[in-house]
Amino acid sequence: MNTTRVTPSDHGQETIESTCTGPRIVLFGTGGTIASSGASATQLHDYRVTATLEEVMASVPHMHALGSLTGEQVFNVPSHDIDNGMLLQLAQRVAQALNDPDVDGIVLTHGTDTLEETAYFLDLVTNSEKPVVVVGAMRPAQALSADGPLNLYNAVKVAASPQARGKGVLVVLDDRIVAARYASKRHTSATDAFRPHEHGLLGEITGGIVRFFYSLVPRHVEGMAFALDKMAMLPQVDVIFDHIGAGEHLYDASIASGAKGIVLAATGNGSLSVSARAGARKAQHNGVLMVRSTRTGSGTVLPLADDADFHTICANGLNPQKARLLLMLVLTKTADFQIAQRYFDCW
Ligand code: ASP
Repeated sequence: MNTTRVTPSDHGQETIESTCTGPRIVLFGTGGTIASSGASATQLHDYRVTATLEEVMASVPHMHALGSLTGEQVFNVPSHDIDNGMLLQLAQRVAQALNDPDVDGIVLTHGTDTLEETAYFLDLVTNSEKPVVVVGAMRPAQALSADGPLNLYNAVKVAASPQARGKGVLVVLDDRIVAARYASKRHTSATDAFRPHEHGLLGEITGGIVRFFYSLVPRHVEGMAFALDKMAMLPQVDVIFDHIGAGEHLYDASIASGAKGIVLAATGNGSLSVSARAGARKAQHNGVLMVRSTRTGSGTVLPLADDADFHTICANGLNPQKARLLLMLVLTKTADFQIAQRYFDCW
């Protein structure tokens, strides 16, 4: 039988350690449905974060046989409450752990609402062969057929798997492994909310075995990495959703409130509507970078002749919420739209 003990860490948080040998996996707890409960077994929405990482880990005793597990609660909130400062804090802790020679892999428990944002951000700012797996649940812990325990078990299994090395940040839910770059929450409540349609699954966990189907095209581009250790804060980047009848006032408000970048969740192939053109012009005159993404949910946003005139950047395959993360990081390096475009072409 494996045992678990709780000790205060150097980072002022409690750490949880299990005594099993095997791959050394660090779990970071951030909250979300996987740490939540409602009033009854049939209450599947409108619940609160109730459990610490220690309690979540204790509820899946089987996973302690998969390796030597250490847990650290970074924060404990629903993921729609995570702000830029928390994201940066979390990324810095993950990067530190990746640099630790005593760590073989990382699992992050996270709410599913913004899980894709944290996973992609970590993918952008870390560069390690060690597996980093982000996991959540669609049903709270007390629910009939709660998915959290098996998702967590599978996430630890993937993080402990030698095959998961060098694959970038991975998202594990519903027995599937998805690359952070392509993972997106596409359903409000179904347990397979992260099933990607365009880019496919990277792998699965089936019959207790981790199987990868493909390898990702490597992305870490020489000279284009982001130095997380020098980042004290992230610049303000807003997302504006375009639609029939949209006004210019959101661009005015964004620029006036100090945004350094705007991502347009544009129609179709990142089209610039009348108000988006006006907004892009205002952004250009105020030194605010504007990225054209798409509200369609899939497909690649291609360059337009207008980009040279309006100094707009095309998001390629990034959805608006992921384009926002990349733009924040790019803005720590440049305010030039052409150089910024090169980052969007690579990442
Ligand atoms: N509201 C939750 C969150 O993102 C949803 C979830 O975790 O599934 O924290």
